[in-house]
Parts: sequence; structure tokens; C-alpha cells
Amino acid sequence: MYQILMISSLYIVFKLCDWIIEEVEEWKVKRNILSNPILRYEYYKGSYTARKMKKLKRMPYNEYLKTQHWELAQSAVLKRDKNKCADCGCSKKEKPLEVHHITYIRRGKEKLEDLMTLCKDCHKERHFISNVFE
Ligand SMILES: [Zn+2]
Ligand SMILES: [Zn+2]
Repeated sequence: MYQILMISSLYIVFKLCDWIIEEVEEWKVKRNILSNPILRYEYYKGSYTARKMKKLKRMPYNEYLKTQHWELAQSAVLKRDKNKCADCGCSKKEKPLEVHHITYIRRGKEKLEDLMTLCKDCHKERHFISNVFE
């Protein structure tokens, strides 16, 4: 009887240790994801419901620019582009940087290649050019 009790309590202790190790591993993975803006963006984007994506796609653009989604997308793009304008190469110390949509077709679930970092001046120029030829 005593032996059975011993074995079963040991078993419980082992199971508990296993569980703790698993939890810690999961927490580490999550911490890595959340500390990298690119992975963080993909992580959150993967959790969106169809309803949320529809809403993001249809809301007025000025409202869209205030969403957490857009904030996450911007940090991911800035990180990928190393905080430099993709057209002239200036850094955020020289000019304010903005994130430009190359295409709006995936608005609300943009791929990183749909977006690019531009400084204020290059951004204006891009829109000027596209308006002229549209
Ligand atoms: Zn520029
Ligand atoms: Zn733009």
C-alpha cells in the first residue's frame, strides 16, 4: 500500500514538472514572437476572424489608420526596411518615415510586400505620380 502511494505521488510530481516545462517553453516562444515586430504582426494577423477582416477592409481609411492592426503592420514594415526610406534611403532621424500601400487589395490583412517605408517627401512624390497617371 505504501509503495503504491509513493509511486503515484512520484508520478504526479513528474507530470507536474512536465507541465511546467511545457508552459515555460510555450511562454518563451510567445515572448520571442511578441518581441519581433514582423513575427508579432503575422501572429496577430493569423488570429483575425473573417468578420474582423471584413470590418478592416470596409471602414473609412482615416479610421483604418488609427487601428491597432495598422500600428502593428507599420512596425513590421519599418523593421523590415530597417527604418529607412525605400526610395531615397534616408533614416528616421533625417525625415519622418511613413508606411505606403503599394496595393490596397489586401487591406486589413496586408502581406508585408504590399507595403513599403517612405520618408514624408518620397511618399508625397509617389502619390503625386500615381495621381497624375491615374
Ligand atoms: Zn525618401
Ligand atoms: Zn502612400
